[in-house]
Amino acid sequence: MSDHFDVVVVGGGPAGYAAALYGAAAGLNIALIEKSRLGGTCLHVGCIPAKELLETAAVFRTVKHASVFGVGTSEPTIDFGVTQVRKQGVIDTLTNGLAGLLKHRKVTVYDGVGVLASTGELKTVDVSGGSSGDLSVTGDSVVLAAGSVPRTIPGFDVDGTRIVTSDELLSIQELPARAAVIGGGAIGIEFASMMADLGTSVTVLEAMPKIIPGVDPDAARVVERSLKKRGIDIRTGVMVSGQEVVDGATRVSFGEGESVDVDMVVLSIGRRPFADMLGLDAVGIALDERGFIPVDASCQTQTPGVYAVGDIIATAQLAHIGFAEGMVAIRAILGEDPKPVDYQNVPWCIYCHPEVAFAGHTEESAKEAGFDVVTSTHKFAGNGRAMIVGETEGLVKVIAEKDADGTAGRMLGVHMVGPWVTEQLGQGYMAINWEATVDDVAHFIQPHPTMSELFGETVMALTGRGLHG
Ligand code: FAD
Repeated sequence: MSDHFDVVVVGGGPAGYAAALYGAAAGLNIALIEKSRLGGTCLHVGCIPAKELLETAAVFRTVKHASVFGVGTSEPTIDFGVTQVRKQGVIDTLTNGLAGLLKHRKVTVYDGVGVLASTGELKTVDVSGGSSGDLSVTGDSVVLAAGSVPRTIPGFDVDGTRIVTSDELLSIQELPARAAVIGGGAIGIEFASMMADLGTSVTVLEAMPKIIPGVDPDAARVVERSLKKRGIDIRTGVMVSGQEVVDGATRVSFGEGESVDVDMVVLSIGRRPFADMLGLDAVGIALDERGFIPVDASCQTQTPGVYAVGDIIATAQLAHIGFAEGMVAIRAILGEDPKPVDYQNVPWCIYCHPEVAFAGHTEESAKEAGFDVVTSTHKFAGNGRAMIVGETEGLVKVIAEKDADGTAGRMLGVHMVGPWVTEQLGQGYMAINWEATVDDVAHFIQPHPTMSELFGETVMALTGRGLHG
């Protein structure tokens, strides 16, 4: 086995394995170094386990409301140990599948910590501490994809049971009776939604004035209303000041002298880039003030031939953004002058109940960017399929540029909240990225009865001739 490669990738999460798979598909000889498990945060302590537990909550809700369909059941109960076994089964199958894909594409995988040792014409990465032993590999190019780790708060020492981050929460064997989720962003709200549906009494503590910042306010309001209806106590605009154990419970202090007693504190305050083990200092690659690796539009660092992708760079921390950046880096290495990722128009999905999905401008951001806009909003309450499924909370909102004659033109943003919207965003995402007008899109037929009819209806209304709205 040669220890020289076209590309050496450090980190086997979505960004790193995308670079490896895409590069190998293009005929490059690739090494992939991973210190822990292939699949990274996403597969082991992120997207996949979080969505698996949310699906458990969905099944629980469905069974709980089965009687309205005339289906008889007893009151559902939850055995979280069984849930965890199922979750692990999904993770293991996906991890094995990924290992198989890499092998099939002849990517050489090294188990160990990768440290960038030199960055001249030939780049060297030292590998150590894993089952591959201590060795050095060289590459014409290097892709750094070391990802991120949860942020913590001073005074909240993570012990894995009383105080947890997402890393620990996703593997708990029993749900707490009471939980405080600190942070009302996408991940915190997914956890709050999941736990509340499964019987935990949840308090969300968010420093910002609103939960899920960045989401269109009309969509965010639907989520907030639904969470509150399901008993979640949402406290916004409050800073958390400390915690102490009182009578066996954890008392979390926040705001102006307020507190809540819980059995588990879930820290969900974001993730920091994890460049700690890459050895960048020694090769003169500086981090920015927040710890991210600075890159240009093709994901190249200031050192020629060294690229960085995924959560380690200061772009949206999403697995599919990592995929996209991994592919951009490989295309740059191949000299193909890749189109940079258009960060303004990437898809975003939050899998709480009800789900949220959006791409492009919100009404506010479009106006801030100088667009004159028209909007159309339609509710799932009038959608046949949503009624059939029994999930009518939510809406679709489309933002379009107002043309000189006052009619709606190019689509700028699509915002959805409601049943299965994470599976419905595709059309809106494509329309925006293809710079389609509302007339272009309104022309397409939506199958009936589907929830995606609501998207079609919302766009059609912007042409001035809706059907049902
Ligand atoms: P990571 O996935 O963090 O992978 C980095 C890898 O590099 C790790 O395996 C690490 O062990 C390895 N590594 C680090 N340093 C070294 C080194 N020196 N040598 C060797 N290996 C090293 N995103 C979505 O798009 N959709 C979601 O629904 C979603 N849900 C999420 C839910 C939760 C609870 C969390 C925490 C995250 C979620 N994310 C989601 C975010 C997503 O998981 C991350 O954006 C994604 O995993 C980042 O990919 P990455 O490859 O950049 O980094």
